[in-house]
Amino acid sequence: MFYKGKLIVDPKFNGIKIPTMYLYNQFINSNKTDPRVRAMAMELGLQAHLMGKFLEITGIFRTREKNIEIYGRDKASGHREMPVRAIDFSLKDLDIEDIAHLKNHFAMFLDNGSYWSFISHDVGAGAHLHLQAPHADYNKILWEEV
Ligand SMILES: [Zn+2]
Repeated sequence: MFYKGKLIVDPKFNGIKIPTMYLYNQFINSNKTDPRVRAMAMELGLQAHLMGKFLEITGIFRTREKNIEIYGRDKASGHREMPVRAIDFSLKDLDIEDIAHLKNHFAMFLDNGSYWSFISHDVGAGAHLHLQAPHADYNKILWEEV
């Protein structure tokens, strides 16, 4: 990514581990990853960092083929939109208490209402944390003057 003519290629974020350049390039690109879900991920990453842990990103965009493999059909999902509204994290560096702490932090400060979610579930590539922002037009629906 270029910012003010300078190439920024530092794939390090506190508490966020991005294992591949493919995921890194998705994560930093606002046309591919909704900045709202990315901001949430970075806040949760900071919490993980303060716990001496990290959140490893395992998935952002999901292909039609992968969705069919998981659900048997191309089900609507925050991972199937562009920009993507959902990010998955591995549970492998986290124990039950870590997960509870992160979920509590989300519930206390980051749960901005309907369709924001941060859950652990076991679908697709196995147990993982799923972070999701609402549809981009949801705020407009909420705040539209009547
Ligand atoms: Zn997910």
